[in-house]
Amino acid sequence: MNKFSNRITRLFGIDYPIIQAGMIWTSGWRLASAVSNAGGLGIIGAGSMYPDVLREHIQKCKAATSRPFAVNLPLLYPEIDKHVRVLMEEGVKIVFTSAGNPQTWTPLLKEKGIIVVHVVSSSRFARKAEEAGCEAVVAEGFEAGGHNGREETTSLVLVPAVVNAVKIPVIAAGGIATGRQMLAVLVLGAEGVQMGSRFVASEEASAHINFKKEVIGSEEGDTQLMMKQLTPVRLLRNDFSQQVKEAELRGAPVEELKALLGRARAKKGMFEGDLQEGELEIGQVSALLDSILPAGEIVREVWEEFMNGLKNPLKMP
Ligand code: NDP
Repeated sequence: MNKFSNRITRLFGIDYPIIQAGMIWTSGWRLASAVSNAGGLGIIGAGSMYPDVLREHIQKCKAATSRPFAVNLPLLYPEIDKHVRVLMEEGVKIVFTSAGNPQTWTPLLKEKGIIVVHVVSSSRFARKAEEAGCEAVVAEGFEAGGHNGREETTSLVLVPAVVNAVKIPVIAAGGIATGRQMLAVLVLGAEGVQMGSRFVASEEASAHINFKKEVIGSEEGDTQLMMKQLTPVRLLRNDFSQQVKEAELRGAPVEELKALLGRARAKKGMFEGDLQEGELEIGQVSALLDSILPAGEIVREVWEEFMNGLKNPLKMP
């Protein structure tokens, strides 16, 4: 497959501007190294890992690939300073931060020579990330799974808005799982894509097989953005999401929603495979997925479809 060169491939030292999202309970060293070995950028999702577990995943990833890989740090994490220490001690070179203020950790990470990319859901946050010294931003639209912006801006609107707002390169995310979708967002000015849901349905993802099967069996309309009062998160519909919906409809106070959420719901759903009582975070694009593939094959498929689309962009009948 032909390599490709733009600001994103050069920034990370990768062959294709295809980035696998950091996802709790799903993206450990196996998935990250498989994506990196295929020429994309794999990301270890630190949000569900205790600091020692993160260290183990980084070490295993380094052993499994000589290619660049990154770590995603959700800034809401309770022991973020310990994660940052682990990253530095292990010599991680690229960090994607999300769900928090980019000004808090970017200066220190940059001082240590780490490339920092921040995930944003609006042009305002994109400018803030650029000012904080981030070298790229991920513009993540309303379609995305898991944590999401409150404004509900779709990728089709968000990507060009963020591209206009900043000078640093933009990675599009939210609703992308195919090469033609990648082509569409690159036409809008993005220089790379970040895909989460497509890689949940991969052999190397550490998510439970029940969850992976549920993802590829889902249809349009099966996900919904919920819990805007706490932290907005896109979930697959199940008994748990129905309980949240009913509570939200009757205007339940934040404390009640917190109590309903309880602890470790995401682990129960995505890692332990409890499809009714667990929290199942996935993007709208799951409706387009119908296979669980090796991650390297996903990278190749997306890239091939993108390159073919470039030659013949309009699918005219
Ligand atoms: P909960 O408070 O419900 O549960 C905490 C979970 O995180 C438990 O399952 C626990 O594992 C695990 N965990 C890992 N490290 C720690 C730690 N240092 N202290 C306590 N628990 C820890 O949180 P959630 O499961 O909803 O979210 C966990 C984290 O993931 C948060 O930091 C959140 O910001 C992040 N997150 C990131 C997302 C993303 O898209 N990147 C999406 C959603 C959440 P155990 O059960 O083994 O103790």
